[in-house]
Amino acid sequence: MKLFLSTDFEGTSGIVAWEQIIEGNAEYEQGRRLLTNEVNAVITGAMDGGATEFVVNDSHHYMRNLHPQDLAGRATLITGKHKPLYMMEGLDASFDGVCFVSYHGSIGAERAILSHTYNPGAIWEVRINGEIVGESGLNALVAAHYKVPIIFVSGDAATAEEAGLVAPQAEKVVVKESKGRFAAAHVHPAAACEMLREGALRAARGMSVMKPPQFTLPVIVEITFLVADMADMALWIRGVERVSPRTVRVVSENMLDLYRSFVTIVTLTRSLVDR
Ligand SMILES: [Zn+2]
Repeated sequence: MKLFLSTDFEGTSGIVAWEQIIEGNAEYEQGRRLLTNEVNAVITGAMDGGATEFVVNDSHHYMRNLHPQDLAGRATLITGKHKPLYMMEGLDASFDGVCFVSYHGSIGAERAILSHTYNPGAIWEVRINGEIVGESGLNALVAAHYKVPIIFVSGDAATAEEAGLVAPQAEKVVVKESKGRFAAAHVHPAAACEMLREGALRAARGMSVMKPPQFTLPVIVEITFLVADMADMALWIRGVERVSPRTVRVVSENMLDLYRSFVTIVTLTRSLVDR
């Protein structure tokens, strides 16, 4: 039983500020320990539930937040930039389940810790087939393409709610109560890890009946940017159409192509972010 873990950082218990999760800050080392413990809690819980093989894709910022020697389950770790499948790099049809660990809510979500959708400096909102989605919804395109179910999601309540759209059957573990974008009440890290372990155990045991994400074809991905120039730039990519001054869309039957287009748009428009 082979699991793919896409790990972000914002959804870890104890995390409320960028300084805790971005390299070069004094608080980062503590943040990294909290994240590593949560990832290991998921791995060990899933092992207890029968999972035997793990690939962890470090998906946050510079994507070097986890240290390979600290991971449980002899997991293979994918780190570093730039990865063609970004937060989903490494997933293919050989996996039995996907886990989204330490995820967070979309840029427009209420009471969502450190909310954003890929790039808070460029993306205002993303919709798939008309529904507002966060990173879980976008990343689900890749899981849907390879027909692998999303079996586990952790983060705050906004994360769990948004993930419910694409992964209604997944085990959801909420490790903190967000009071806003930069404040939260945290479950004690030891208790959070216990909850994550139990959730991952249930997910591994129950995954044989879980279905891959379903999208009505063709899938329409619409992206609204902060400024019109970003939409202009996104049009440089073949297949991207303009909807309104700040909004573009991509339509395809192929969900992997759609995700690749999205990643390309994110990468390209980064050059227009105000510093
Ligand atoms: Zn993120």
